[in-house]
Amino acid sequence: MSETRNVIIIGSGPAGYTAAVYAARASLDPLVFEGSVTAGGALMNTTEVENFPGFRDGIMGPALMDEMRAQAERFGAELVPDDVIEVDLTGDTKVVKTATGTFTARAVILATGSGYRKLGLPNEDALSGRGVSWCATCDGFFFREQHIAVVGGGDSAIEEATFLTRFGSKVSLIVRRDELRASKIMQERAFADPKLEIVWNSVVETINGADSLESVTLKDTVTGETRDLDATGLFIAIGHDPRSELLTGQVDLDDNGYVIASHPSTGTNLPGVFACGDLVDHHYRQAITAAGTGCAAALDAERYLAELE
Ligand code: FAD
Repeated sequence: MSETRNVIIIGSGPAGYTAAVYAARASLDPLVFEGSVTAGGALMNTTEVENFPGFRDGIMGPALMDEMRAQAERFGAELVPDDVIEVDLTGDTKVVKTATGTFTARAVILATGSGYRKLGLPNEDALSGRGVSWCATCDGFFFREQHIAVVGGGDSAIEEATFLTRFGSKVSLIVRRDELRASKIMQERAFADPKLEIVWNSVVETINGADSLESVTLKDTVTGETRDLDATGLFIAIGHDPRSELLTGQVDLDDNGYVIASHPSTGTNLPGVFACGDLVDHHYRQAITAAGTGCAAALDAERYLAELE
């Protein structure tokens, strides 16, 4: 086992890298586990990011994450492209395991993000950022005067769909059954919106297009009939899952699996364990808010370590 570090950061999205920049500049020599497949986090799967401050012309998601990564490295963060597979965070010395080693630290920052649920269709990943999206706040602006489809029947699907009517010429909400799961107030909002059409008893069967979304094929769940919808934007709003499996039984999680942090701090129920980004936040879910809480987590860890001395 290597020497005990000041701080280990688990996760490499905007939250993890921002925490790494702050921790490294505070001379805490952070060790960052980035994950083996998805280093860089959710923005590695998108194209243009137009709402991250500092880039007036926008920046490609992977380029933004490369910059954050390089910035963390510049100040001495040690970045390791491995998955953490087990943790014991309950003692004063935190234990973090990967497939190749066991590492210890006095403080740990959790920044493993959350994953949007997918439809599981062949073209879904290929057209992500090219018509297929999971975030209306992020991407709605790209679909001005276009026909937009939204999949889902819960509150967040209706929130996304009604928000998107600001941009689209028309928004079609694709609902699997003949009723919405959403709350009554959200349903009323949907029914009252003249730009919002609800397509009942339907699922997306195929996502069509080579370089960008050209249409979606819908299947009627009652009759089995199929038809094409000429939407050039498809927003998938069927939920998201925090990546908190590692933490079950150690860190307090809410009913949906999100880490409970003691706002406004990023502290968890365990001393020396801090959490940030989409792992904690199912409300804002933006790169800048993830970066903001990543900064806060590093400052909280710094103060915690100072008090130990
Ligand atoms: P993530 O970015 O999800 O990063 C977490 C990372 O932690 C994972 O990717 C992985 O690398 C690592 N990890 C997970 N588990 C482990 C483990 N066990 N061991 C080691 N590492 C692990 N937001 C905007 O503000 N503007 C946009 O334009 C925008 N566009 C988006 C487009 C798409 C397609 C998507 C999916 C999201 C978009 N978002 C956008 C949302 C934004 O990407 C997220 O809010 C943000 O990335 C959350 O940051 P995070 O650091 O909390 O988590």
